Amino acid sequence: MLKVFANQAGITMNGRNLCSIAGSRLQGKVAVVTASTDGIGYAIAERLGQEGAKVVISSRKEQNVARAVDQLTKAGLDVTGVKCHVATSADRKALFEKAVEKYGGIDILVSNAAVNPEVGGVLEASESAWDKIFEVNVKCSFLLAKEVLPYIRQRKGGSIVFVSSIAGFQPFSLLGAYSVSKTALFGLTKAASQDLASENIRVNCIAPGIIKTKFAAALHESEVAKETALAQIPMGRFGDPKEISSVCAFLVSNDASFITGETIVASGGMPSRL
Ligand code: NAP
Repeated sequence: MLKVFANQAGITMNGRNLCSIAGSRLQGKVAVVTASTDGIGYAIAERLGQEGAKVVISSRKEQNVARAVDQLTKAGLDVTGVKCHVATSADRKALFEKAVEKYGGIDILVSNAAVNPEVGGVLEASESAWDKIFEVNVKCSFLLAKEVLPYIRQRKGGSIVFVSSIAGFQPFSLLGAYSVSKTALFGLTKAASQDLASENIRVNCIAPGIIKTKFAAALHESEVAKETALAQIPMGRFGDPKEISSVCAFLVSNDASFITGETIVASGGMPSRL
Protein backbone atom coordinates (compact mmCIF):
# COMPACT_ATOMS: atom_id res chain seq x y z
CA MET A 1 0.00 0.00 0.00
CA LEU A 2 2.81 2.37 0.98
CA LYS A 3 4.66 1.49 -2.23
CA VAL A 4 1.61 2.03 -4.45
CA PHE A 5 0.89 5.36 -2.76
CA ALA A 6 4.52 6.48 -3.00
CA ASN A 7 4.67 5.52 -6.65
CA GLN A 8 1.49 7.36 -7.58
CA ALA A 9 2.33 10.42 -5.52
CA GLY A 10 5.99 10.46 -6.62
CA ILE A 11 7.08 10.77 -2.99
CA THR A 12 10.85 10.91 -2.68
CA MET A 13 13.37 10.43 0.11
CA ASN A 14 16.95 11.64 -0.38
CA GLY A 15 16.16 12.11 -4.07
CA ARG A 16 14.86 8.55 -4.62
CA ASN A 17 11.29 7.52 -5.14
CA LEU A 18 10.10 5.83 -1.96
CA CYS A 19 8.73 3.11 -4.17
CA SER A 20 12.21 2.02 -5.26
CA ILE A 21 13.52 2.24 -1.70
CA ALA A 22 10.77 -0.15 -0.69
CA GLY A 23 11.99 -2.61 -3.35
CA SER A 24 9.90 -2.15 -6.48
CA ARG A 25 12.63 -1.47 -9.02
CA LEU A 26 11.01 -3.86 -11.51
CA GLN A 27 7.38 -2.83 -11.17
CA GLY A 28 5.59 -3.23 -14.52
CA LYS A 29 8.36 -5.38 -16.03
CA VAL A 30 7.97 -8.90 -17.38
CA ALA A 31 10.91 -11.27 -16.93
CA VAL A 32 11.55 -14.68 -18.48
CA VAL A 33 14.08 -16.81 -16.59
CA THR A 34 15.31 -20.14 -17.97
CA ALA A 35 16.26 -23.06 -15.72
CA SER A 36 14.42 -21.33 -12.89
CA THR A 37 12.89 -24.17 -10.88
CA ASP A 38 15.94 -24.69 -8.68
CA GLY A 39 19.24 -23.15 -7.59
CA ILE A 40 20.40 -19.82 -9.00
CA GLY A 41 17.58 -19.55 -11.56
CA TYR A 42 14.92 -20.06 -8.88
CA ALA A 43 16.56 -17.44 -6.65
CA ILE A 44 16.65 -15.02 -9.60
CA ALA A 45 12.97 -15.61 -10.39
CA GLU A 46 12.09 -15.08 -6.73
CA ARG A 47 14.12 -11.88 -6.41
CA LEU A 48 12.83 -10.34 -9.65
CA GLY A 49 9.31 -11.14 -8.46
CA GLN A 50 10.00 -9.57 -5.06
CA GLU A 51 11.18 -6.43 -6.85
CA GLY A 52 7.85 -6.17 -8.66
CA ALA A 53 8.38 -8.06 -11.94
CA LYS A 54 5.96 -10.59 -13.33
CA VAL A 55 8.06 -13.69 -13.91
CA VAL A 56 7.83 -16.66 -16.25
CA ILE A 57 9.44 -19.73 -14.65
CA SER A 58 10.70 -22.63 -16.75
CA SER A 59 12.76 -25.79 -16.82
CA ARG A 60 12.74 -29.22 -18.48
CA LYS A 61 10.37 -31.00 -16.09
CA GLU A 62 6.71 -30.14 -15.85
CA GLN A 63 6.48 -31.16 -12.18
CA ASN A 64 9.43 -28.92 -11.24
CA VAL A 65 7.76 -26.00 -12.98
CA ALA A 66 4.48 -26.68 -11.15
CA ARG A 67 6.27 -26.88 -7.79
CA ALA A 68 8.24 -23.66 -8.30
CA VAL A 69 5.18 -21.75 -9.51
CA ASP A 70 3.19 -23.01 -6.52
CA GLN A 71 5.89 -22.00 -4.00
CA LEU A 72 6.42 -18.53 -5.48
CA THR A 73 2.70 -17.90 -5.85
CA LYS A 74 2.18 -18.84 -2.21
CA ALA A 75 4.91 -16.33 -1.37
CA GLY A 76 2.70 -13.66 -2.95
CA LEU A 77 4.61 -13.26 -6.24
CA ASP A 78 3.07 -12.86 -9.69
CA VAL A 79 4.54 -15.81 -11.61
CA THR A 80 3.50 -18.27 -14.25
CA GLY A 81 5.36 -21.26 -15.66
CA VAL A 82 5.90 -23.41 -18.69
CA LYS A 83 8.07 -26.42 -19.47
CA CYS A 84 11.08 -25.35 -21.53
CA HIS A 85 14.13 -27.42 -22.40
CA VAL A 86 16.28 -24.65 -23.82
CA ALA A 87 17.59 -26.91 -26.59
CA THR A 88 14.07 -27.53 -27.95
CA SER A 89 13.00 -24.90 -30.42
CA ALA A 90 9.26 -25.44 -29.86
CA ASP A 91 9.77 -25.09 -26.08
CA ARG A 92 11.58 -21.75 -26.48
CA LYS A 93 8.75 -20.52 -28.71
CA ALA A 94 6.17 -21.63 -26.14
CA LEU A 95 8.14 -19.90 -23.37
CA PHE A 96 8.00 -16.49 -25.02
CA GLU A 97 4.43 -16.98 -26.18
CA LYS A 98 3.39 -17.81 -22.62
CA ALA A 99 4.91 -14.54 -21.39
CA VAL A 100 3.07 -12.53 -24.01
CA GLU A 101 -0.22 -14.38 -23.55
CA LYS A 102 -0.18 -14.03 -19.75
CA TYR A 103 1.58 -10.68 -19.25
CA GLY A 104 1.40 -8.87 -22.61
CA GLY A 105 5.11 -8.63 -23.48
CA ILE A 106 8.71 -9.23 -22.38
CA ASP A 107 11.24 -6.75 -20.95
CA ILE A 108 13.86 -9.05 -19.42
CA LEU A 109 15.49 -12.36 -20.38
CA VAL A 110 17.75 -14.22 -17.99
CA SER A 111 19.51 -17.10 -19.78
CA ASN A 112 20.61 -19.41 -17.00
CA ALA A 113 20.54 -23.02 -18.22
CA ALA A 114 23.78 -24.99 -18.50
CA VAL A 115 24.99 -28.57 -18.50
CA ASN A 116 28.20 -30.39 -17.75
CA PRO A 117 27.85 -34.06 -18.76
CA GLU A 118 31.51 -35.03 -18.19
CA VAL A 119 34.29 -34.34 -15.72
CA GLY A 120 37.85 -33.86 -17.00
CA GLY A 121 40.38 -31.61 -18.69
CA VAL A 122 39.42 -29.74 -21.84
CA LEU A 123 41.37 -31.96 -24.24
CA GLU A 124 39.99 -35.08 -22.59
CA ALA A 125 36.39 -34.15 -23.41
CA SER A 126 34.55 -36.50 -25.73
CA GLU A 127 33.14 -34.97 -28.89
CA SER A 128 29.60 -35.73 -27.76
CA ALA A 129 30.13 -33.99 -24.40
CA TRP A 130 31.71 -30.99 -26.15
CA ASP A 131 28.74 -30.77 -28.53
CA LYS A 132 26.19 -31.03 -25.72
CA ILE A 133 27.98 -28.41 -23.60
CA PHE A 134 28.27 -25.96 -26.46
CA GLU A 135 24.72 -26.63 -27.62
CA VAL A 136 23.06 -25.91 -24.28
CA ASN A 137 25.47 -23.43 -22.71
CA VAL A 138 26.36 -21.31 -25.73
CA LYS A 139 24.13 -21.97 -28.74
CA CYS A 140 20.90 -21.92 -26.71
CA SER A 141 21.93 -18.71 -24.95
CA PHE A 142 22.47 -17.18 -28.38
CA LEU A 143 19.14 -18.53 -29.70
CA LEU A 144 17.18 -17.37 -26.66
CA ALA A 145 18.61 -13.86 -27.00
CA LYS A 146 17.95 -13.81 -30.74
CA GLU A 147 14.39 -15.10 -30.38
CA VAL A 148 13.42 -12.78 -27.53
CA LEU A 149 14.59 -9.67 -29.39
CA PRO A 150 11.40 -8.98 -31.37
CA TYR A 151 9.48 -8.94 -28.06
CA ILE A 152 11.97 -6.69 -26.26
CA ARG A 153 12.07 -4.37 -29.28
CA GLN A 154 8.30 -3.94 -29.04
CA ARG A 155 8.87 -2.53 -25.53
CA LYS A 156 11.46 -0.04 -26.92
CA GLY A 157 14.15 -1.32 -24.57
CA GLY A 158 14.98 -4.01 -22.09
CA SER A 159 17.66 -6.19 -20.67
CA ILE A 160 19.31 -9.57 -21.25
CA VAL A 161 21.52 -11.34 -18.71
CA PHE A 162 23.62 -14.45 -19.37
CA VAL A 163 24.67 -16.58 -16.42
CA SER A 164 28.29 -17.59 -17.01
CA SER A 165 30.81 -18.73 -14.37
CA ILE A 166 34.05 -17.77 -12.68
CA ALA A 167 35.37 -20.84 -14.56
CA GLY A 168 35.03 -18.77 -17.74
CA PHE A 169 37.87 -16.54 -16.48
CA GLN A 170 39.98 -19.17 -14.74
CA PRO A 171 39.23 -22.66 -16.12
CA PHE A 172 38.48 -25.37 -13.56
CA SER A 173 40.80 -28.28 -14.37
CA LEU A 174 38.02 -30.87 -14.06
CA LEU A 175 35.47 -28.77 -15.95
CA GLY A 176 37.55 -28.08 -19.04
CA ALA A 177 35.01 -27.88 -21.85
CA TYR A 178 32.38 -26.33 -19.56
CA SER A 179 34.86 -23.58 -18.63
CA VAL A 180 35.50 -22.77 -22.30
CA SER A 181 31.76 -22.60 -22.96
CA LYS A 182 31.41 -20.10 -20.12
CA THR A 183 34.24 -17.98 -21.60
CA ALA A 184 32.26 -17.89 -24.85
CA LEU A 185 29.38 -16.20 -23.01
CA PHE A 186 31.63 -13.22 -22.20
CA GLY A 187 32.18 -12.80 -25.95
CA LEU A 188 28.47 -13.19 -26.68
CA THR A 189 27.71 -10.54 -24.06
CA LYS A 190 30.20 -8.09 -25.60
CA ALA A 191 29.13 -8.64 -29.20
CA ALA A 192 25.37 -8.55 -28.54
CA SER A 193 25.63 -5.52 -26.25
CA GLN A 194 27.39 -3.51 -28.95
CA ASP A 195 24.77 -4.41 -31.55
CA LEU A 196 21.88 -3.51 -29.27
CA ALA A 197 23.18 -0.53 -27.30
CA SER A 198 21.60 2.07 -29.60
CA GLU A 199 18.21 0.41 -29.11
CA ASN A 200 18.30 0.79 -25.33
CA ILE A 201 18.65 -2.98 -24.92
CA ARG A 202 21.36 -3.81 -22.40
CA VAL A 203 23.19 -7.14 -22.39
CA ASN A 204 25.19 -8.18 -19.35
CA CYS A 205 26.61 -11.28 -17.75
CA ILE A 206 27.14 -12.71 -14.26
CA ALA A 207 30.07 -14.94 -13.34
CA PRO A 208 29.20 -16.74 -10.11
CA GLY A 209 31.86 -18.45 -8.04
CA ILE A 210 31.01 -21.72 -6.31
CA ILE A 211 27.39 -21.51 -5.19
CA LYS A 212 25.67 -24.05 -2.97
CA THR A 213 23.29 -25.72 -5.43
CA LYS A 214 22.74 -29.24 -6.77
CA PHE A 215 24.86 -28.37 -9.83
CA ALA A 216 27.89 -27.83 -7.58
CA ALA A 217 27.06 -30.72 -5.21
CA ALA A 218 30.29 -32.57 -6.12
CA LEU A 219 32.23 -29.61 -4.72
CA HIS A 220 30.45 -29.22 -1.40
CA GLU A 221 29.02 -32.60 -0.41
CA SER A 222 32.06 -34.72 0.48
CA GLU A 223 34.32 -33.38 3.24
CA VAL A 224 37.50 -33.76 1.13
CA ALA A 225 36.05 -32.01 -1.92
CA LYS A 226 34.60 -29.32 0.31
CA GLU A 227 37.95 -28.55 1.96
CA THR A 228 39.72 -28.41 -1.41
CA ALA A 229 37.07 -26.10 -2.87
CA LEU A 230 36.92 -23.82 0.17
CA ALA A 231 40.70 -23.40 0.03
CA GLN A 232 40.22 -21.68 -3.36
CA ILE A 233 37.73 -19.13 -2.02
CA PRO A 234 39.30 -16.18 -0.18
CA MET A 235 36.05 -15.52 1.72
CA GLY A 236 36.22 -19.11 2.98
CA ARG A 237 32.64 -20.09 2.20
CA PHE A 238 30.39 -21.09 -0.68
CA GLY A 239 28.01 -18.55 -2.14
CA ASP A 240 24.27 -18.61 -1.66
CA PRO A 241 21.98 -18.39 -4.74
CA LYS A 242 20.54 -15.18 -3.27
CA GLU A 243 23.99 -13.58 -3.64
CA ILE A 244 23.66 -14.08 -7.40
CA SER A 245 20.00 -13.11 -7.68
CA SER A 246 20.71 -9.73 -6.07
CA VAL A 247 23.34 -9.02 -8.75
CA CYS A 248 20.88 -10.01 -11.46
CA ALA A 249 18.14 -7.76 -10.03
CA PHE A 250 20.59 -4.85 -10.08
CA LEU A 251 21.69 -5.54 -13.68
CA VAL A 252 18.14 -5.67 -15.07
CA SER A 253 16.97 -2.64 -13.08
CA ASN A 254 17.27 1.06 -13.90
CA ASP A 255 20.03 1.26 -11.29
CA ALA A 256 22.24 -0.30 -14.01
CA SER A 257 20.83 1.88 -16.82
CA PHE A 258 24.29 2.84 -18.16
CA ILE A 259 25.81 -0.62 -17.83
CA THR A 260 25.99 -2.87 -20.87
CA GLY A 261 28.49 -5.44 -22.17
CA GLU A 262 29.75 -6.10 -18.64
CA THR A 263 30.29 -9.20 -16.57
CA ILE A 264 29.89 -8.95 -12.81
CA VAL A 265 31.84 -11.51 -10.83
CA ALA A 266 30.36 -12.71 -7.53
CA SER A 267 32.85 -15.28 -6.32
CA GLY A 268 33.88 -14.51 -2.74
CA GLY A 269 37.22 -13.27 -4.06
CA MET A 270 38.15 -16.11 -6.42
CA PRO A 271 40.48 -14.63 -9.04
CA SER A 272 38.93 -13.38 -12.26
CA ARG A 273 40.80 -10.49 -13.93
CA LEU A 274 42.68 -7.29 -13.18
P1 NAP B 1 20.92 -26.24 -10.30
O1 NAP B 1 20.70 -25.81 -8.90
O2 NAP B 1 21.35 -27.65 -10.53
O3 NAP B 1 19.58 -25.94 -11.10
C1 NAP B 1 19.50 -26.27 -12.41
C2 NAP B 1 18.17 -25.80 -12.99
O4 NAP B 1 18.27 -25.90 -14.39
C3 NAP B 1 16.98 -26.64 -12.58
O5 NAP B 1 15.87 -25.79 -12.45
C4 NAP B 1 16.79 -27.58 -13.78
O6 NAP B 1 15.44 -28.03 -13.79
C5 NAP B 1 17.16 -26.64 -14.92
N1 NAP B 1 17.69 -27.19 -16.17
C6 NAP B 1 18.72 -28.03 -16.33
N2 NAP B 1 18.95 -28.27 -17.64
C7 NAP B 1 18.05 -27.51 -18.33
C8 NAP B 1 17.77 -27.30 -19.70
N3 NAP B 1 18.46 -27.94 -20.66
N4 NAP B 1 16.78 -26.46 -20.05
C9 NAP B 1 16.07 -25.83 -19.10
N5 NAP B 1 16.27 -25.98 -17.78
C10 NAP B 1 17.26 -26.82 -17.40
O7 NAP B 1 22.03 -25.35 -11.05
P2 NAP B 1 22.68 -23.94 -10.64
O8 NAP B 1 23.89 -24.19 -9.84
O9 NAP B 1 21.63 -23.03 -10.12
O10 NAP B 1 23.19 -23.42 -12.07
C11 NAP B 1 22.52 -22.41 -12.78
C12 NAP B 1 23.51 -21.69 -13.66
O11 NAP B 1 24.56 -21.15 -12.85
C13 NAP B 1 24.22 -22.55 -14.72
O12 NAP B 1 24.37 -21.78 -15.90
C14 NAP B 1 25.58 -22.81 -14.12
O13 NAP B 1 26.57 -23.05 -15.11
C15 NAP B 1 25.81 -21.48 -13.42
N6 NAP B 1 26.83 -21.53 -12.37
C16 NAP B 1 26.64 -22.29 -11.25
C17 NAP B 1 27.62 -22.30 -10.27
C18 NAP B 1 27.47 -23.09 -9.00
O14 NAP B 1 28.49 -23.20 -8.26
N7 NAP B 1 26.32 -23.63 -8.67
C19 NAP B 1 28.79 -21.55 -10.45
C20 NAP B 1 28.94 -20.80 -11.60
C21 NAP B 1 27.94 -20.80 -12.56
P3 NAP B 1 14.94 -29.32 -14.62
O15 NAP B 1 15.70 -30.49 -14.10
O16 NAP B 1 13.47 -29.39 -14.36
O17 NAP B 1 15.26 -29.01 -16.05
